[in-house]
Amino acid sequence: MFGPLHHLNFCEVDGFPLVKIDDEVYCSAEYTDGLIGGQAVTGIEERGDRIELIFDSGLRFPLTCPCCDGPLHRQFPLADVRRIFRGRTLEGFRHGEYVGRGTPPERHPIFALQFSGPEDPKHRTLEVGLGSVRGLRPDIHPH
Ligand SMILES: [Zn+2]
Ligand SMILES: [Zn+2]
Repeated sequence: MFGPLHHLNFCEVDGFPLVKIDDEVYCSAEYTDGLIGGQAVTGIEERGDRIELIFDSGLRFPLTCPCCDGPLHRQFPLADVRRIFRGRTLEGFRHGEYVGRGTPPERHPIFALQFSGPEDPKHRTLEVGLGSVRGLRPDIHPH
C-alpha cells in the first residue's frame, strides 16, 4: 500500500521534499536550481518512454508523472509539452501534495517547475514526480 514516494523528509529551509541521489540527500528545489535554475528550455525530446526537457547547459530533465513517478500519462502529450514549454526559462519551484482517489487516499509530495511567461502561473507550471529530480544528472551529457 505504500509507494516509493512515501516516508520522505522535507527541507527545513524551504519545505521542499528531500531526495536521495547516490546515497547523498539533497533538497529537491536546491538541487534542481543549482543545475538548471534560470536556464531556458532549448529542446524537448522523447527518449524511451520519457519526455525530457533539454536546458541551455545540455542537461536533461526527464519528466515523470506526479501521481506515480512513472512516465507522464496524466498531463500532456509531447506536442503540448513542446508547445507550452519550449523557449521558456525555469524561474522557480513549487511543492504541494498529491492526493489519490482511493480510500484512504494515497498522499505524497509533488514537485513542480515554474517557468517564465505572462500567463497565470498555473498555466506555466509543470508538476512532476521526484524521479525527475533523481534523473537530473550533472555527469550525463547528450552526444
Ligand atoms: Zn531546501
Ligand atoms: Zn502516474
